[in-house]
Amino acid sequence: MKAPIVSILAKSVALLLAIGTLTAHAADQPKKLLLVTVTKGFRHSSIPTAIKVIGDLAEKSKAFTIDIVFNDDDLMAKTTAEKLKGYDGFIFANTTGVLPLADKQAFLNEIKGGKAFIGMHSASDTFPVKQGVDPYIEMLGGEFQTHGSQVGVECLVQDGKHPAVKHFGEAFCMEKEEIYLLKNYDRTKVRDLLVLDKHPNKKKEAGHFPIAWCKDYGTGKVFYTSLGHREDVWENKAYQEHILGGIKWALGLVPGESIPHAK
Ligand SMILES: [Zn+2]
Repeated sequence: MKAPIVSILAKSVALLLAIGTLTAHAADQPKKLLLVTVTKGFRHSSIPTAIKVIGDLAEKSKAFTIDIVFNDDDLMAKTTAEKLKGYDGFIFANTTGVLPLADKQAFLNEIKGGKAFIGMHSASDTFPVKQGVDPYIEMLGGEFQTHGSQVGVECLVQDGKHPAVKHFGEAFCMEKEEIYLLKNYDRTKVRDLLVLDKHPNKKKEAGHFPIAWCKDYGTGKVFYTSLGHREDVWENKAYQEHILGGIKWALGLVPGESIPHAK
């Protein structure tokens, strides 16, 4: 008995529609980020707030989900060459010291190969070395050197179109924050997004003091902000928009330039 041609056609159309929906759905799937807050040096009291804020941003934006690492064993388990492949990017929120990554080279290679890296505050006080520069710091674009007492600062926006800073307008004025002075930073290798034009603590001393930037690393994208010491900074809506813009940019979800301003 012949199958009715109309029925076969209807089934084919239904199947094609189903495939189309599945494909479209896959493209809309939130990105998967590994959130690391492990510390081997100083541990910020703002870490629980950071985890909550990033979790809320993930939930509200629906742009990404987070897999949180809570301890050394968990970090080792989730950073093998094989497991790293399961993520679209990595967030280091207030990490410090030499972290026990299972495969650090594979981790850097994943970013270089097109993934996202987002670092907040003491992410630049991570993998410190006594001499030279650690490859992690080369990826990040700058390293913590020191900080003075907490102060009010006016962070000047350097790229009014970048999704991490455009909502600030001309500047992000902070009432009180711990401001890092950095080393192993080269303004010809990063695109500055926020800078100070004077020393945070010695206001009479003019200069170029980087606060936040973005950069390419291979075909991957890196966003770093040195802000994020205090709980109330993490709770600040403008700061939250800053890091959400940085995360979405690094994941390639929103456009933004990464060419350094300085030659
Ligand atoms: Zn701090």
